Amino acid sequence: MNTFSKLVKCKLCNKTMKFKKESGGLYCCSTYDNYGKEHCQRTIVREEVLRELIERRHRREMTDQEIRDIVDYVIVESHLLMEIHFSNGDIPILLKGHHIQF
Ligand SMILES: [Zn+2]
Repeated sequence: MNTFSKLVKCKLCNKTMKFKKESGGLYCCSTYDNYGKEHCQRTIVREEVLRELIERRHRREMTDQEIRDIVDYVIVESHLLMEIHFSNGDIPILLKGHHIQF
């Protein structure tokens, strides 16, 4: 299982994003991947980007299990627009273009 399996959703179609091994591991809109650009856009996020945002907040490296224990869900609109929501009461991490709200 990948770190964020079943936790990442495409904001445009609200479907769970599927993991792909390309570019070191990324999540891609499953609607786009299955049905093409008439049905959704190619929303993608690299797994490493999500991990880095969470580790930056905690100022240390974290295991897959530690991350899965605290992440509730991730909503991705594009590789520069996303929200990471936590199940432990921590405020969300918001990525808005080049501005990050920790
Ligand atoms: Zn989508």
